[in-house]
Amino acid sequence: MSIELKALGKEYTAGNWVLEDVSAHIESGEFFAIVGPSGCGKSTLLRMIAGLIPISAGELQIDDQVATNLPPKDRKLTMVFQSYALFPFLSVTDNVAFGLKARKFPADEIKKRVDKAIDLVNLNEFKDRKPRDLSGGQRQRVALARAIASDVKICLMDEPLSNLDAQLRIKMRTELRNLQRELGLTVIYVTHDQVEAMTMADHIMVLHNHEIQQIGTPLDIYNRPANTFVASFFGTPRMNLLPARVEADKELLLANTLKLSVPEPLPVADYVVGIRPNALRLLPQGAGEPNAQVKTVEYLGSEIILEAELADGTPLELVAAAKDQYNVGDWLSVAIDGQAYVFDHDGQAQFMVEGGTRHATGNHASVQA
Ligand code: ADP
Ligand code: MG
Repeated sequence: MSIELKALGKEYTAGNWVLEDVSAHIESGEFFAIVGPSGCGKSTLLRMIAGLIPISAGELQIDDQVATNLPPKDRKLTMVFQSYALFPFLSVTDNVAFGLKARKFPADEIKKRVDKAIDLVNLNEFKDRKPRDLSGGQRQRVALARAIASDVKICLMDEPLSNLDAQLRIKMRTELRNLQRELGLTVIYVTHDQVEAMTMADHIMVLHNHEIQQIGTPLDIYNRPANTFVASFFGTPRMNLLPARVEADKELLLANTLKLSVPEPLPVADYVVGIRPNALRLLPQGAGEPNAQVKTVEYLGSEIILEAELADGTPLELVAAAKDQYNVGDWLSVAIDGQAYVFDHDGQAQFMVEGGTRHATGNHASVQA
């Protein structure tokens, strides 16, 4: 049950394209995440795939069949929403059975499927309860069971965990992922949460500015970001993005402060260089020139997050060891010690340097697996 998106576009009102040229291949049995900031069109894309809103441009294929204009009921997919969309007056069992009854499955078949689905999501003890007597997590599991009970192998999910508290959300990530694997479901999963996408997905589509920024595995996206948007969207604390200019033949000067050696001369004068906080090293007191001043200190237990300012005023986030002591106003000596991502001044990835060696980075077309 693979899905093919071919240059999909959406305009709610004429001439206002919310999404443009969205193309992707979603393999049968994979967990595919669509991630991006609020308002970037994630729900819109999911609803187009579900058939809940019309597709304005392009073609949708489900299982090698054109499905662009098929009514939702003929698309062989189920949907789980952020709000659980359960019937308040029906028991857990009846909520799970509802779709199968509507589609006139035989009674014994319904019972078999419903029992299995309820068992899979661990709701056996709650079969006869009404939704109001369940916790948020349990309700979301009912919604999941309903999707599982149908014979349909494609499940679309729109921020299904975002109403749950933090602890339950983390537990449900694993449960959901395990269930998806066990049942061989093809899941398209919408979230604004980069960690959720990173930890759950086989492939991630990053949406922003009406279009795809990158598609890749979580590792691709993290290690080979196609542009500055993707680079700073994934990872906590965020990647630092510093203005850079060519200073000498094989050298960039970042924020007028930090030197970065590059393996070959660069063709233009200006770049943006991205450095994750863990690729910056704090030199011991007295070693090296002080070049950054501490602005805030945040203790996280295992480590310390420092917000500093480079000598020219450019902000810089750093990670320091928890055993060390830092105070606001301290001067630090910071050096690059790890990967540095070089982007052009439009934010498109050029290459990555590590220890003076050049490595390829991603772009939207080349990293689609
Ligand atoms: P996301 O799910 O990523 O937060 P949405 O798909 O809900 O984003 O919305 C994408 C854009 O489309 C937003 O600018 C939103 O205001 C607009 N939009 C969503 N639904 C409609 C609608 N029914 N009519 C007009 N514009 C809409
Ligand atoms: Mg949404």
